[in-house]
Amino acid sequence: MTDNLTGDLTRIAIVGAAGRMGRHLVMACSESENVQLTQALEKPEGPLMGSDAGIIAGIEAQDVLISETLDADQFDVLIDFTHPSVTALNLDFCLKHGKKMVIGTTGCDEALVKKLEAAGESIAIMYAPNMSVGVNLCLKLLQTAATVLGDTVDIEIIEAHHRHKVDAPSGTALKMGEVIAGALGRDLKECAVYGREGQTGARDRQTIGFETIRAGDIVGEHTVLFAAEGERIEITHKASSRKTFATGAMRAAHWIQKKSTGLYGMDDVLGL
Ligand code: NAD
Repeated sequence: MTDNLTGDLTRIAIVGAAGRMGRHLVMACSESENVQLTQALEKPEGPLMGSDAGIIAGIEAQDVLISETLDADQFDVLIDFTHPSVTALNLDFCLKHGKKMVIGTTGCDEALVKKLEAAGESIAIMYAPNMSVGVNLCLKLLQTAATVLGDTVDIEIIEAHHRHKVDAPSGTALKMGEVIAGALGRDLKECAVYGREGQTGARDRQTIGFETIRAGDIVGEHTVLFAAEGERIEITHKASSRKTFATGAMRAAHWIQKKSTGLYGMDDVLGL
């Protein structure tokens, strides 16, 4: 295996480099002083195979051509914002070759999450459904709000994303639900209510409601509502550019380079 000869510079492989997030990841990589793009992957036999990843991202050429095969000698950290089925295959590759990962893919099922946890015994992985600093700060605020307000409020999580998003509710909304449920000593699997229709009956205060909006080009918006009789608190985060996620991913990649094993979250990266 080739050693990293660039000292502190973390060599990055981006999978899904031509995707919505992939292009922003290539851009963020080129803007960071700590990381260097060395591999850019796309799905086999795609039309962009052999194109320069920088040109596809709309910036200057990066001298990294889009390919379909990972080369373990060429990178330190693999960044994956794709689809759970692709992420699972990349996890196998990284486990086999002792490589680190930053995973932003959402919609991962319980089996894949368990696999990630087990893989953390052998390699270092940072897995987060949302890599923006603002959202991770919101998770802390939500934990505090839930702890203070306890069972005295109705809690609803409302999220909106662009029309191309394939999973619902968003990974971020689910993470918010998990943090709140954890602070209240509830099990999200038992207390979550996804959308409502028809004769629903009165609201059960023990539930956490999720509402999903899919429309146009919305990058990502989340509001958590804590509503009581007479007052309500709303904690809202709005992402206006995917750049915020991509910058967070670069920060995470440089951070995970110094870890040898473990499954981490963005709160670890940010020291929250
Ligand atoms: P996208 O469909 O635009 O991009 C995915 C890319 O992966 C596509 O270009 C596709 O061709 C490529 N791909 C598919 N199969 C592949 C394979 N076998 N090998 C290599 N590349 C392959 O989707 P997107 O909007 O960029 O979102 C990707 C994922 O990232 C989603 O799960 C989304 O929810 C998630 N996401 C996470 C964050 C975060 O902060 N964690 C932020 C935004 C999006």
